[in-house]
Amino acid sequence: MEILLAESLGFCMGVKRAVDMAYKALDKAEGTPVTSLGPLIHNSQEMARLTNDGVGLAQTTADVPTTGTVVIRAHGVTPQAYDELKARGLKVMDGTCPYVHYSQRKARELYEEGYTVVITGDRQHPEIVGILGHINDEAYAVKSVEEAAALPALERIGVIAQTTISPKKFQAIIDVLKTKAPEVKVCETICDATEENQKAIRELSGEVELLYVVGGRHSANSNKLVEVAREQCQQTYLIETPEEIDAADVVGIRKVGISAGASTPDWMIQQVVQHLRGLDRTVNRADHRVAA
Ligand code: SF4
Repeated sequence: MEILLAESLGFCMGVKRAVDMAYKALDKAEGTPVTSLGPLIHNSQEMARLTNDGVGLAQTTADVPTTGTVVIRAHGVTPQAYDELKARGLKVMDGTCPYVHYSQRKARELYEEGYTVVITGDRQHPEIVGILGHINDEAYAVKSVEEAAALPALERIGVIAQTTISPKKFQAIIDVLKTKAPEVKVCETICDATEENQKAIRELSGEVELLYVVGGRHSANSNKLVEVAREQCQQTYLIETPEEIDAADVVGIRKVGISAGASTPDWMIQQVVQHLRGLDRTVNRADHRVAA
């Protein structure tokens, strides 16, 4: 069985930067608490490693200890949350991804220019919650063409994309928005990492019979990779760990592909590769051709 890795997969720049920031904070903590506001990444295994190494987790600003360092995750936070932490005298390390900072800035510009802001994404997603905080929560969030079609007629629409949306879906939503207002200004805020991983899995999904996306169940970009892959490879599964692979799925498979979400560390991808090699030896004895 051939094991093919997507040309671009795994940890993105933004997540890597936030995790590195947490470890830098630990180095300088001198015994004071280091806390991330919300999970730094959507990957429970990597979160367990961070917890073991001493990074605490606060779900809300109210849960943050009264002393020490707070690390803001790559999704960013509302300016209100940021200011509150600073006002409490905490050391704040801002791990907000530069792409997300760009989206926040663009949303503010559109808002100040008088556009009705439409964010193509999930209103509950922390990245969108953070962006909404920059524009007084005054925006529509639509995550499908159906939701876009349900919007009322508007005058001037300014569009921001959730960084992890697929370009194809983004374009489809824009096409609908153009029927809703005479003026639609589009800000291209989809991040390269997402596009690269999506492009790579699209290519890979045409070559393999079975495909695993290694990523957190709640990771928007991992779920997006599955959605893209299933256009060509129906047998695409999202897994968090190698143990979730059903050996029966591998029987008789000659080419299997692997991709990984932006929060998936390399060590986890390697574990999946090793696990598949082991399965190949046990369930596909007739074909021992293995390549990575
Ligand atoms: S997926 Fe893109 S926007 Fe999100 S953290 Fe990674 S690099 Fe930044």
